Amino acid sequence: MPEKRDYYDVLGVEKGSDKKEIKKAYRKLAMKYHPDVSEDEEATEKFKEISEAYAVLSDEEKRKTYDQFGHAGMDGFSNEDIFRNVNFEDIFQGFGGGFDMGNIFEMFGFGGGNRRGGPQRGSDIYAEIDITLEEASKDIEKNISIMHDVECPVCHGSKSEPGSNPKECQTCGGTGQVKQVTNTILGQMMNVRPCPECRGEGKIITDPCKNCNGKGKVRENNTISIKIPAGVESGSRLRVPGEGNAGDFNGGYGDLIVLINVKPHQKFEREGPNLYYEQQISFVQASLGDSIDIPTIDGEVELKIPPGTQSGSVFRLRGQGMPIMRRNSKGNLYVTASVVVPQKLNEKQKELLKEFAEISGEEIKTYEKGFFDKVKEAINH
Ligand SMILES: [Zn+2]
Ligand SMILES: [Zn+2]
Repeated sequence: MPEKRDYYDVLGVEKGSDKKEIKKAYRKLAMKYHPDVSEDEEATEKFKEISEAYAVLSDEEKRKTYDQFGHAGMDGFSNEDIFRNVNFEDIFQGFGGGFDMGNIFEMFGFGGGNRRGGPQRGSDIYAEIDITLEEASKDIEKNISIMHDVECPVCHGSKSEPGSNPKECQTCGGTGQVKQVTNTILGQMMNVRPCPECRGEGKIITDPCKNCNGKGKVRENNTISIKIPAGVESGSRLRVPGEGNAGDFNGGYGDLIVLINVKPHQKFEREGPNLYYEQQISFVQASLGDSIDIPTIDGEVELKIPPGTQSGSVFRLRGQGMPIMRRNSKGNLYVTASVVVPQKLNEKQKELLKEFAEISGEEIKTYEKGFFDKVKEAINH
């Protein structure tokens, strides 16, 4: 399958476009690519693509999820979920009878022929969590607070008040769908669509459950404990099965998908499993060599600085980086030595350095104290 195009690109709108602009763009493209009128060979595919983009971007909640998670955020939605709240009638008003929802549902292979009233899996929900680099370096458990739909404890998802029974829908005779014949400029078209009376369920709840107002589910705030594996990276998604929204008629729960955000660290830069650290050393340490303590993600280790170390030299500490997920190994810690030149020297230090230069055969033209002040004065005169 070719990679999915960005929904905004598909509709040719800006990221910040408002609902009106999105609707206008979709209407225009729909007129061009509707398979009933377009001569384009790929019209159906294009029409499906723009319709899906519109369905997501015209729904505030789905758009938010898409903006944040991209196409991956849509994984949990079935085609049916994606199109649930779209009012295509509104869009295609004045286009003629052929352009309607039943058509689009059929194109995507649902709705038209299928009954929509049976058990349905609940939708996935999304959450985000911040963790520190230290936390990412080991297996941890974190609590996360989420809002989700859970099965109503009173009617257990049946939507009816306990003791009452739903009755068969008169409009569709319990099939959940109605057929509609419309005359269009292209001839007669028959659409099979979900029954508007029972919304495809085939039955009418006569005595809705009072606890959930006949929804079969209630919204609840819950704290979920999630296990985060060592080595997780920023942007990773963790799927927690069964902690999403409750479905319809005991169709089961969707999943909770947690986006992991690993906060930047004060000392370490991270690149995959490797960590980078800059250690300042004095020019004496660099010249003579030394043994120093270096911080790692879990404690300190000793690093031997060899004599004659140049500024910018990189030392690799094997296995002192981040764990590699689901593998029993770790990345490395790379330490860059940064040689610091002292900014202030006392008389004794200066003397010794001059002596050092002399022994090394170096000729240094030192500036006396106040030299720069004198230069300044000279310029000002
Ligand atoms: Zn209930
Ligand atoms: Zn019905």
